[in-house]
Amino acid sequence: MGAEPQRLHIALFPLMAAGHMIPILDIAKLFSSYNLKTTIITTPLNASFFTKPLQNSKHNIGIEIIPFPSKEMGLPEGIENFDQFTSDEMSIKFLNATQQLQHSLEQVLLKCKPNCLVSDMLFPFSVDVAAKFNIPRVVFHGTNYFSQCLTHAMIKYEPYKSVLSNEEEFVIPNLPHQILHTKSRLPSIMRGEKRDHDEDDQSGEFMKVFVQALEAEEKSYGIIVNSFYELEPDYAEHYRKVMGRKAWSIGPVSMCNREIEDKFQRGKDSGIGSHLCLEWLGSRKPNSVVYVCFGSLAEVSSLQLYQIALGLEASGYDFIWVVRRGSGVDEEGEEEWLPLGFEKRMEGKGLIIKGWAPQMLILDHEAVGAFVTHCGWNSTLEGISCGVPLVTWPVFAEQFYNEILVTQVLKIGISTGAKEWNRKVEGVIVKWEDIKEVIRRIMMGDEALEIRSRANKVKELARKAIEVGGSSYVNMCSLIQELSTYDVTTKTRALVLEEELQSNVALG
Ligand code: UDP
Repeated sequence: MGAEPQRLHIALFPLMAAGHMIPILDIAKLFSSYNLKTTIITTPLNASFFTKPLQNSKHNIGIEIIPFPSKEMGLPEGIENFDQFTSDEMSIKFLNATQQLQHSLEQVLLKCKPNCLVSDMLFPFSVDVAAKFNIPRVVFHGTNYFSQCLTHAMIKYEPYKSVLSNEEEFVIPNLPHQILHTKSRLPSIMRGEKRDHDEDDQSGEFMKVFVQALEAEEKSYGIIVNSFYELEPDYAEHYRKVMGRKAWSIGPVSMCNREIEDKFQRGKDSGIGSHLCLEWLGSRKPNSVVYVCFGSLAEVSSLQLYQIALGLEASGYDFIWVVRRGSGVDEEGEEEWLPLGFEKRMEGKGLIIKGWAPQMLILDHEAVGAFVTHCGWNSTLEGISCGVPLVTWPVFAEQFYNEILVTQVLKIGISTGAKEWNRKVEGVIVKWEDIKEVIRRIMMGDEALEIRSRANKVKELARKAIEVGGSSYVNMCSLIQELSTYDVTTKTRALVLEEELQSNVALG
């Protein structure tokens, strides 16, 4: 009997943030469903994020744990995730700590001997590690082609330098569509504004790593995109032409979670049980509920939460509203962000989930008629793949670009009008009257019907993309095929390297 051919082994190394770890776990499940060996590399306190949902799963995904240098970098013990910061200073230290993981990553690769490293964009050092082991590094960004094309054009042509005010519109040049933007929707470092010292430092440090990340990306084998060709064909083509990089769109990756339990287990521990959540939604008519969630990172001021509550109540629609723990809770622990008697009045009409919501379970329910989102790419794509019309309320990162894709290109959402890039929603950005208005617009009338019909068509395209023969399916197959070939030609060199490393260890 001949020896069984060795299975291709993919190691995945996500940034320690829910918006990166969640899609990476989905991508690992996808690889595993193609019978590939998969290993996720993470730090001790992030391990359960992966191990818990995998407990009763059919996927056999390995977890390798590397230490995180919290103490060495002056961080309090227990801080290992982007959602744990309480200050800008802390976020700089955290970012710097993430750049110290090169040696630990090398140790894991030495032990596991994967054939490919899928690593986060914000780990630029991983391109050198992969080169050392002679395996391809495939980058994972967490965003789509559209935003990457806009980011590239913005850096290359600096069109924002031609306007005099933050509100004056400019065209982002050389794109498939005429895309208008304003400086207010760009990070403060691009606006050239002086903010407080810590915030300037933070933007500067992130920019430094971001520039290194772009350089590392050029040296990488290619990128995986959580999107699907039919969603943004012009930008998939533009990306290849202008950036000249290999890219495989294999999404929406969240759609690999088909069972209720898989959808429920995604991310952190939910603030509501799956039965209760489904029972609540099950007692509502189709398309009658508004779902509001700002993702895992965005902080929303108490004043803004108060306005959201008023807006939801005034809209007259049933709602599920996710409020991250800690938001708006004053020093005495009072929930000052809720209008007096709000919870009592909204009994049976509105569900407030404090902490973490089972978002995929909710979005996939026929009762949900609209999603008020901060336009994080995962949330946006999850809404898209469930055919839910979107109300866009971008806050920071590339969320303003995602808003343009949704409202101007795909025309499956309406903007709240939020127009200032900021790490936090400070003060009141959108007043309750406008929140009420935009909810009513997305839920009823001719415009709402047109948007819903377009959203349903895009959902259908997403479903087809991941089916056998669909674009994402085909891309996944060709990625695996390429990685297999790469493996054959490079294995010997990787082994030589390992022998060298081992003899160095033996020689002391
Ligand atoms: N998410 C969730 N429940 C929550 C908040 C977020 O399941 O209460 C998930 C959401 O489904 C998405 C991810 O967390 O997969 C957030 O990623 P996104 O890119 O939307 O935003 P970020 O948190 O990175 O700003």
